[in-house]
Amino acid sequence: MVQPQPFLTGLKCRCPRCGKGKLFSGYLKVAPSCAVCGLDLKFADSGDGPAIFVIFLVAPIIILLALFVGATFNPAPYVHLILWIPTTLILSLALLPPFKGVLVALQYRHDAHEGHQ
Ligand SMILES: [Zn+2]
Repeated sequence: MVQPQPFLTGLKCRCPRCGKGKLFSGYLKVAPSCAVCGLDLKFADSGDGPAIFVIFLVAPIIILLALFVGATFNPAPYVHLILWIPTTLILSLALLPPFKGVLVALQYRHDAHEGHQ
């Protein structure tokens, strides 16, 4: 069986083994197991990983957009607040599930887990 691409299945929030079943049962809650292939998803623990990647991606995007809008239109400061606070929130919340999906898929692919003594 050909293993699905971790980045594609992750971005689509699908099961890392079959690439068909849903990975999440809630917004960021990983399902107990895959409904299609039955893979036990208890191993999935991406911790703070997705948040870090989302911060490192969203922050430069927002900063560049704010600089561009500021230099081009020179709006009043409150316009920046109205523009960038919702944009940051929406972008971050939209990106968290796919990033978590990718990290869980990579964790499955590379059989990564916490160290044991
Ligand atoms: Zn599956």
